Amino acid sequence: MDIHEYQAKEILSNFGVAIPQGALAYSPEQAAYRAREMGGSRWVVKAQVHAGGRGKAGGVKLCDSDAEIQDVTEDMFGKKLVTHQTGPEGKGIYRVYVEAAVPIEREIYLGLVLDRASQRVMIVASREGGMEIEDISAEKPDSIVRATVEPAVGLQEFQCREIAFALGIAPAMVQQMVRTLRGCYRAFRELDATMVEVNPLVITGDDRILALDAKMTFDDNALFRHPQISELRDKSQEDPRESRAADRGLNYVGLDGHIGCIVNGAGLAMATMDTIKLAGGEPANFLDIGGGATPERVAKAIRLVMYDKKVQALLVNIFAGINRCDWVAEGVVQALRENPVDVPVVVRLAGTNVEEGQKILAESGLPLIRAATLNEAAERAVAAWKSDMNQQNSKLRAI
Ligand code: ADP
Ligand code: MG
Repeated sequence: MDIHEYQAKEILSNFGVAIPQGALAYSPEQAAYRAREMGGSRWVVKAQVHAGGRGKAGGVKLCDSDAEIQDVTEDMFGKKLVTHQTGPEGKGIYRVYVEAAVPIEREIYLGLVLDRASQRVMIVASREGGMEIEDISAEKPDSIVRATVEPAVGLQEFQCREIAFALGIAPAMVQQMVRTLRGCYRAFRELDATMVEVNPLVITGDDRILALDAKMTFDDNALFRHPQISELRDKSQEDPRESRAADRGLNYVGLDGHIGCIVNGAGLAMATMDTIKLAGGEPANFLDIGGGATPERVAKAIRLVMYDKKVQALLVNIFAGINRCDWVAEGVVQALRENPVDVPVVVRLAGTNVEEGQKILAESGLPLIRAATLNEAAERAVAAWKSDMNQQNSKLRAI
């Protein structure tokens, strides 16, 4: 799960990381008021969206008066910000963060990630702040400093000092850097983050080290341990299909194709998507309904997949091991009776009690297309999708 910059800053600040003064606003009037309340004469208005690259896309604006803040934010609220990280559809701006403008002397990159090779938290830093880490590693790979943290002892002071020296931090400011690094590390560990990125971390003209931007991503599987983090979820920033799935406890990833997939087991879901592609189609989603494919879960899954208007054919592929095909078949039939769909539905069942399952499907009276193997199922789904599409096209031409 991702959170907003202002939320990440508040968290890091609670762990001892210094941040500029700032306040959140939900409207242009409030943004202007926040600036007056804060005082000062220069502010930066920052669109709060779950994506980086806002600066280059017009989502970070320097303002010299509260009237200017009002003008600038009137152009932001309700608009979609398109950055190189949002995809072409962009992300809606519903909150802005008004922050005191800081006299920047130097910008540094700081990131904490999970390094799968060493199975450790890795700190990545560079003198080349402000640039994305991908560009730094392509253009200035030598500027990158790395340190891995031994989990039994945590991030050590000497490691922080080594990083500070490698970044060329003045001796008088090394202690501030140690505090920043340790704060980021503790926030990462204690809150089960998978990523903390401060880009840029800045050194100001008056010798302070401040987190000027902050991004945190959390491990979804650990969120149950951190209700205060779960509460920060902002559905306006998520793929609506995926937030609906998360609300229903389904394992779903939205994709761009037209064939909706309902599968039990992540491995089978991957294989199904591959086979659809092999047959010349494109999957609309990855959906693993899990082991207990009860009628209720199948029904939920069908509703969820059909919520995506791009879906033009449905492929249900269930392998019953512990499950039983007759139960699953009943689930599919019941679900489709209660939630009729207007696209072709292909069902492939395999495993325990498959004959009984097939019989239930055959006798249901529903226009289901049945398939015996995965290949056959994928081919039939692709064929059904194509013929359905052709019919729609000829209908359109007739109009
Ligand atoms: P993004 O990474 O999404 O582009 P940032 O928060 O990193 O957004 O802001 C982009 C740039 O704007 C920063 O690299 C910095 O130069 C400038 N900036 C951001 N916040 C401030 C601030 N409070 N004072 C001065 N400059 C700022
Ligand atoms: Mg940034």
